[in-house]
Amino acid sequence: MVKETIRVYARVKPLGRQQQAGIYSVDDDEKSLSSLEIIVPHDLADGFVNNKRESYKFKFQKIFDQEAKQDVVFDSIAKPVAECVLAGYNGTIFAYGQTGSGKTFTITGGAERYSDRGIIPRTLSYIFHQLQKDSSKVYTTHVSYLEIYNECGYDLLDPRHEASRLEDLPKVTVMEDPDQNIHLKNLSLQQATNEEEALNLLFLGDTNRMIAETPMNQASTRSHCIFTIHVSSKEPGSATIQHSKLHLVDLAGSERVAKTGVGGHLLTEAKYINLSLHYLEQVIIALAEKKRSHIPYRNSMMTSVLRDSLGGNCMTTMIATLSIDKRNIDESIATCRFAQRVALIKNEAVLNEEIDPRLMIVQLKKEIQELKDELALVTGKQRTSELSQEELLRLDELLETFLEDNDPDSTLDVGADMRKIKYCFIHVKQLMNHSKMNHEKLLSQYIPEEKETNKETGEELKKLKELLQQRDNEINILVNMLKKEKKKAQDALFQLNAVSACSTVLDQSPPINLEESQSPSSCFSLKEAKDFSSSGENASLLHECLKFRGKMSLGCQEAFEVFRQDHADSITIEDNKQLLKQKFAEAKCLGEKLNEVRIKINHLKGEITQRHVQRAALAVSSPSEELNTLDPVEEKLRTQIEEEKKSYKAMFNRMKGLKVEIEHLQLLIEKVKTKLQKDFEVWWSEETIKLQQEKPELVSSPNTMTVYPQFIKSSQHLSTNSFSDTTRVSPNEDPAGKNNSITSSNPTLKTRTPPSSSTSVPLTGDSQADADILAFIKARQNILQKKGKSCQK
Ligand code: ADP
Ligand code: MG
Repeated sequence: MVKETIRVYARVKPLGRQQQAGIYSVDDDEKSLSSLEIIVPHDLADGFVNNKRESYKFKFQKIFDQEAKQDVVFDSIAKPVAECVLAGYNGTIFAYGQTGSGKTFTITGGAERYSDRGIIPRTLSYIFHQLQKDSSKVYTTHVSYLEIYNECGYDLLDPRHEASRLEDLPKVTVMEDPDQNIHLKNLSLQQATNEEEALNLLFLGDTNRMIAETPMNQASTRSHCIFTIHVSSKEPGSATIQHSKLHLVDLAGSERVAKTGVGGHLLTEAKYINLSLHYLEQVIIALAEKKRSHIPYRNSMMTSVLRDSLGGNCMTTMIATLSIDKRNIDESIATCRFAQRVALIKNEAVLNEEIDPRLMIVQLKKEIQELKDELALVTGKQRTSELSQEELLRLDELLETFLEDNDPDSTLDVGADMRKIKYCFIHVKQLMNHSKMNHEKLLSQYIPEEKETNKETGEELKKLKELLQQRDNEINILVNMLKKEKKKAQDALFQLNAVSACSTVLDQSPPINLEESQSPSSCFSLKEAKDFSSSGENASLLHECLKFRGKMSLGCQEAFEVFRQDHADSITIEDNKQLLKQKFAEAKCLGEKLNEVRIKINHLKGEITQRHVQRAALAVSSPSEELNTLDPVEEKLRTQIEEEKKSYKAMFNRMKGLKVEIEHLQLLIEKVKTKLQKDFEVWWSEETIKLQQEKPELVSSPNTMTVYPQFIKSSQHLSTNSFSDTTRVSPNEDPAGKNNSITSSNPTLKTRTPPSSSTSVPLTGDSQADADILAFIKARQNILQKKGKSCQK
């Protein structure tokens, strides 16, 4: 059992371009805890801190300042927890902080660069590498991905996800068994046998989360997400299985409602978030107070799910993410305060071990058989049935091992079955007769020679006598064994009543369903797992998910093309594509080199064989040559082979690394593409709604792009305009206005004059088609105007 307080770390997000730095300092002491001091300036605009303290100090296990990289964060925070999980303990890492402070960046990672991978992909990679290295145990790994939104749970890995809206999916519900263990109904556990499969599941979940998001429901900042890695391990032959879970939690933004000033639907959401975080806070306060007996876990789904992580059997770590710019000072202080309370909680992690029911059954069956045998012996009710072929073979084997064993104390244990004991006696008798005959034969062979070599035959005779003595000993041992068995049987007579009762019960017990007993946790449905077992299926599902949902009309496609070129994400896609190209080229080059080295090694091997042949020929022609001496040429060839092998291995490992990188990049590109398409849908519907408000008579159905069939016709007029120029928008003027989080590495701007509002467009007279045209023009003008403004600046 390991008893320790929850470890609490802080991470400060780098300042954005337009953010004004707040005043803070980090005192990083290597030996003890680090401390973070936040200074509240007197000139805060809202004035609410003016009469408050000026400086706040908080202690953390370690503080990661703005420049801290993802690998460093992983090494210090997640690696130790992953190691505990591999050793059989439960672990949890959760990120807490206001929206935009870097929770998702820390837990999942950024979508732009491979080096931005967060704790989840790095932990998966680490765990699978460790599992590969350890051949002493058999491991099984599963993952699950739960999203809690407005107090309802959803399975992000549900195969039905692509077809449904979040609200249509079966809800995940919390069930409690009589031992107060929490089970999650409708949450699937997907098996992942390697890193690639697990990463595919992670991306599938992330994509499902993104797709379920609508402008009205920006679930990613308003929902809690829990990615769980389940590891079970067993030593071969042992009946004990270890189970452990690692929860990686991305909590919803912790900001207060009052400040964000939202209303309506968003307010409802904010209330839910604040409520669930409020319940989390209550649980934490209750846990930190030593005398409290009741902890209000049941108040919210999140605290129920994380019950073990917060006050029980778990190694828990919290990361407080801080966005210390001037405007967010009060939120940062609130986050730090929360963290200080969490740091007071003590958890007790225990090894999660249980007995494998299958092996238990085997052991019990054996025991039953032994008891039955003894019973038969004691009651005198001998079994008359013949021994099966298998049993006879097994007896032969036992007997052979016993007879070959030179240890005089060795025993032959065939169980208390008279049929078996008799068989052994008969067998030994046969062996004896056989050896007697051989004896006589030998003797008769030796007699004539005896006359010539008296001394020698004397010795032979002695040996044979010894052999005879040995056989006698063996028979004695067998007789002793029989006596022992009889005594055992007598002892058993005293326990006869108890034993017979027990065996009746065991005989009558129904056969145990192995499949059921293997999966005690009710949340894992075997059928579901089968439906979704192969990683190939998962990959294709992911692919399907990423397909642009709904068909686009030609006009819409054109608008999408313009939007895509102007979108900041297309830079990311292009950058990643370039990187991918480089990686492919590197992989190709490496592949060729690998081939070359392989050919070289084969060639060197061939030379060694040739050398052998030459030396053999030399030995035949001039036998005086010493063949056993070392051949320096061959030695040299062998050293060369060793070196080539080393470089082959190094290249091969690099190739493996490249494969993971390439797969990751491909998934990143797909993810950004999906996001771009979603942003386009949002932007397009916004533009249509705006147009409907301005010219309601022209638009009959202000919905998504799929309701514009006539657009194909009208857009052909427009496509001759100067739309094909590529103009990039800086990330701050993202046309959808949804994308402030993406930072582009090198946005380029072209100067362009905004077109006059009265662009002459041939209208068709058909109100639907005209509405399409106007929607399209309007949308385009909006982009151009925005660009124009930023250029003038
Ligand atoms: P949250 O999940 O807390 O709402 P995000 O993780 O989405 O916040 O972060 C908001 C933005 O800030 C994202 O664009 C993210 O890439 C960026 N970001 C956050 N933390 C860092 C960091 N440590 N380094 C670089 N960029 C970061
Ligand atoms: Mg987030």
